[in-house]
Amino acid sequence: MGLALGIDVGGTKVAAGVVDEAGQIIARLRRPSPAANAQSVVDTMIDMARELAASHDIASIGVGAAGYVDENGRIVRFGPNMAWENEPLADKIEAALGLPTRVENDANAAAWGEFKFGAAAEANSIVFITLGTGVGGGIIIGGELFRGSTGSGGEIGHVTVVPGGAKCGCGLLGCWEQYASGGALVRAAKEEAQLNPQFAQTLLSLVDGDPDRMTGYTVTQAAELQCSAAIKAVNSLAMYSGRALSDLARILDPEMFVLAGGISEAGEIVRKPIEEALHAHVKDAAAFTPTPVRTAQLGNRAGMIGAADLSRTALQS
Ligand SMILES: [Zn+2]
Repeated sequence: MGLALGIDVGGTKVAAGVVDEAGQIIARLRRPSPAANAQSVVDTMIDMARELAASHDIASIGVGAAGYVDENGRIVRFGPNMAWENEPLADKIEAALGLPTRVENDANAAAWGEFKFGAAAEANSIVFITLGTGVGGGIIIGGELFRGSTGSGGEIGHVTVVPGGAKCGCGLLGCWEQYASGGALVRAAKEEAQLNPQFAQTLLSLVDGDPDRMTGYTVTQAAELQCSAAIKAVNSLAMYSGRALSDLARILDPEMFVLAGGISEAGEIVRKPIEEALHAHVKDAAAFTPTPVRTAQLGNRAGMIGAADLSRTALQS
């Protein structure tokens, strides 16, 4: 099958890479994303694909796009950070490059990358979770990516963890995303710092005393340094995540959960409390084996690698 091109497109950048059958990136390009203009993003992607295809024998193209993608992997119905509405992305790229193309939701593509070549390489059924600007997910069952009937399956960040809770961008109240995103982590840490500044000194010193400079990264960094306020904020994120993962474990019984996204990059300080919170929900261990929680391995390359690999299936259909 040879080489496939993977393109990862989001609100701020477009990354493209030539990926071999072992999931290794052998060449890559990166450009800013002209997100405000629907056609310019497509043109940028096509330009990058042409450049890489000129020097590599590429058989297919896979795109991981932030947004809702139709169940056939052809159309981006809507992109929250892009000016795309029912954008026939696969048709446009195929017409320009003459190569079979498949589009996938970015979290689904990253889930596939980790499933084939990363943290879940030996598993058969997994739930992949991104904890970052939002909370996203991808579900793989029995070796197949689960898309749902319309392509919007796996949007696990919008399950309700707090009935009547914080208002979410999706219009609902109390979504998991409102309690486990980078913004939620910062909000919880700020509240702690305000209530008990004496327990937030390490965190406050990392942001030169300015709570508005806190980021998900500084909070996890402070937790690593044993700052109690930061640890409390991480534990809150973990508690809500454990609740959501417990429901998913009951419904899907996956072999493992894989945590990805900016917050997960802090490693054990985030993974361990989430796993503990999940396992605390398992009261009847005789019937339900506690599902392990792992940290993703491919970082921000997962989407590109996964999209490229998924495009190989476009060759078979
Ligand atoms: Zn929501």
